[in-house]
Amino acid sequence: MAEPTVYELSSSGRIGVRFPEPDVPLATLPAGLERESLPLPELSELDVVRHFTHLSQLNYSIDGGFYPLGSCTMKYNPKINEDTARLPGFAFTHPLQPAETVQGNLALMYELQEYLKEISGFAAVSLQPAAGAHGEFTGVMIIKAYHEAMGRTNRTKMLIPDSAHGTNPATSAMRGFEVVGVPSDSRGNVDLEALKALCDDAVAGLMLTNPNTLGLFEEHVVEVLDLIHGCGGLVYGDGANLNALLGIARPGDIGFDVMHFNLHKTFSTPHGGGGPGSGPVGVATHLVDFLPGPNAVIVEEGTDEEAPLFDLAMPAQSIGRVKSFHGHFGMLVRAFTYISMYGADGMRKIAEHAVLNANYLLAKLRHAYHVPHDRICMHEFVMEGVFEDAPGVHALDIAKRLMDYKFHPPTNYFPLIVHEALMIEPTETENKQTLDAFADALIKIAAEAHTQPELLHGAPHITPIGRLDEVKAAKDLVLCCWYPDQN
Ligand SMILES: *Cc1c(COP(=O)(O)O)cnc(C)c1O
Repeated sequence: MAEPTVYELSSSGRIGVRFPEPDVPLATLPAGLERESLPLPELSELDVVRHFTHLSQLNYSIDGGFYPLGSCTMKYNPKINEDTARLPGFAFTHPLQPAETVQGNLALMYELQEYLKEISGFAAVSLQPAAGAHGEFTGVMIIKAYHEAMGRTNRTKMLIPDSAHGTNPATSAMRGFEVVGVPSDSRGNVDLEALKALCDDAVAGLMLTNPNTLGLFEEHVVEVLDLIHGCGGLVYGDGANLNALLGIARPGDIGFDVMHFNLHKTFSTPHGGGGPGSGPVGVATHLVDFLPGPNAVIVEEGTDEEAPLFDLAMPAQSIGRVKSFHGHFGMLVRAFTYISMYGADGMRKIAEHAVLNANYLLAKLRHAYHVPHDRICMHEFVMEGVFEDAPGVHALDIAKRLMDYKFHPPTNYFPLIVHEALMIEPTETENKQTLDAFADALIKIAAEAHTQPELLHGAPHITPIGRLDEVKAAKDLVLCCWYPDQN
């Protein structure tokens, strides 16, 4: 079913562009640089448009179908975000323009900082980090800087629960901390007894994800924070997935010291909408001076007639810049638009519906699949993709078979503490009909696993490319197959 390539469609002399008459004198290229030696395909404009349109249709996308990729919050990205990000006043300003010429941009950054403060309960926010992992790295730099400023040079350990996202240990290790794992208990919470045993005066902090990556609310979150604060450590909140908390609970009020947000998850543009992400960091009062910068500030309060005057400023004991210029500004415009459109009540409804949708799916699926930590979930849940009485079938087979039912597979094999994990996050933007169809597909697949396991092992059957060797596909990319004589 492979489409002919643009090379097979090429026909000598066919052309898709017309160059204007040159308005400069013609020059001769130095020998060896002539373009005739490049074997480019010769095509009409229509051939090219169809080629790229067909290619785009091979992609699965959030605009094309349900995308239950746990931990990634693949919600619908309202198209108004794209309109505002393209407004010339935002899109065409230069990051080195003097502050007085970009007051609107600075106002947007300032207001977004204020929105995120209000949503999270933190005292200050920096919009610089370029992604979630980058926000985490910034956060652990702040923790390090704080301990150093307090003269506590013995704080070398970062505690990280075994359900954590891999970026938590990675960023801690990059900043020079010794990573110490904390086990989970049978209900999927941090094991409090194990945590007590680990608390000593070498602890710099704990990185905690709440709801955790099992989609469960940490039932002892207050005790966990008290334990860490009690031994002089700080608590980092992995706020990549705020979808369950928006408008309901604020990590700053719970007592977290520092947290990153994933604008490209909770605040739409999932996976950066194909572009960059944005991972702002919020901090409690005692860490405000350590934030990266510069950040948007008001230098002259406004009046009834005059808007305030904005500028950029560096916090007093700043860890410095973590990103060139002012972060991924286009993503800031999208998140600002999203939050403004929903408003405070809308934020809360997002969380309520995200949690409702996840629990609805969980209720439909818990009879067909084993759910190891089966309690009320938050925005997502994790089930096992194996059956005792169909031992040959694995989570990967189920994920691939879903593609034959035209659904994107869920996240699989994460979190690591669940055997053959399938991590499902429907988000609030899906309707009941879609959730029902998805649950029906998974229930059918569970039946197939028992009656026709070969159907699962061979899946996907309807995609242009079948089952890949995923490691080889990622590590041994062939990027030049468009070049006719090489493959
Ligand atoms: C996505 C995610 C991250 C990392 O975010 P990136 O923007 O991909 O770097 C960190 N923690 C959790 C729990 C996540 O889901």
